[in-house]
Amino acid sequence: MAIALKQAIAVGSYVVRQRLMGKKRYPLVLMLEPLFRCNLACSGCGKIQHPVEILRQHLSPEKCFEAVDECGAPVVAIPGGEPLLHPQIQEIVEGLIARKKFVYLCTNALRLEASLDKFTPSDYFGFNIHLDGPQHIHDEAVARPGTYDIAIKAIRAAKAKGFRVYTNTTIFEGSQPEDFHAFFDFVTDELHVDGMQLSPGYRYEKAPDQDHFLAVEETRQLFRGILAPYKAGKKKWEFNASPFFLDFLTGEKEYDCTPWGMPSYSLFGWQKPCYLLGEGYASSYKELLETTEWEKYGHKSGNKKCEDCMVHSGFEATAAADMMQPKNIIGSIRTVFAK
Ligand code: SF4
Repeated sequence: MAIALKQAIAVGSYVVRQRLMGKKRYPLVLMLEPLFRCNLACSGCGKIQHPVEILRQHLSPEKCFEAVDECGAPVVAIPGGEPLLHPQIQEIVEGLIARKKFVYLCTNALRLEASLDKFTPSDYFGFNIHLDGPQHIHDEAVARPGTYDIAIKAIRAAKAKGFRVYTNTTIFEGSQPEDFHAFFDFVTDELHVDGMQLSPGYRYEKAPDQDHFLAVEETRQLFRGILAPYKAGKKKWEFNASPFFLDFLTGEKEYDCTPWGMPSYSLFGWQKPCYLLGEGYASSYKELLETTEWEKYGHKSGNKKCEDCMVHSGFEATAAADMMQPKNIIGSIRTVFAK
């Protein structure tokens, strides 16, 4: 099952509670970045461009727990940098599971197989493996040959030990839908992952490669091609995404972003306005909500930095909240139980 039933119910009831409390803005997924250090230098990523004295630092488990407790999001994703390089990652994950958070540890998998004994399988925990497509596409995206094979071996090892395993695929300009059809077949039928997360690449200001990001209409066309067999019912691929977010990617739904729904906390504090843009930091989630000029961001704002953005971290929270609207809730429940 893509989004586990327990998680779907917990997140759905959380959204309903926020609505009943009259909250206009609330977090769904906290992007907890405990370090920026990484053992890869991917061309579409801007995280390792920080100065070396920043790359050497990491958040303590206590700082992570303070942020998680203050924010209150039911789901915590741990990206980076590479979280498996954090010396206390085991303690951080255990503390989050003890708080009954649904935890996704996002990793390039280079260290995964050697790290599996640090973790215990749980309904509250899964590895989210960076895998940008079939071998030739992934190894080029991460700028290191052989990385794909290491990731595939680590996924098999993690599944054999009973862990929940997801893949996280960023799709860039020039991609061919057929490559991804074969890739999704392989990931679903041979690796048996629990779900696949998709996102179009975002034009990161700090990314070394500025030439392969997608504009909105290009994104829609590409995802129509990529998702066509799934939408036609010919493929039973499992996506770790709300069905409405997939509709957004193909242009069947129009949304604006709700970046407060997936806030990002790192060594610098709470990033304004989102995981992707660096426009200052707040010292608490409350301060982030109260001091960010949200109307300056998103498609309707006219902000040039946002006009081509359709990324998962900006728009999935919008789609998930839409699924819990009174007019959509019955259909959403049917979708979850039909899986
Ligand atoms: S559209 Fe939203 S998620 Fe994308 S860059 Fe702008 S503020 Fe961030």
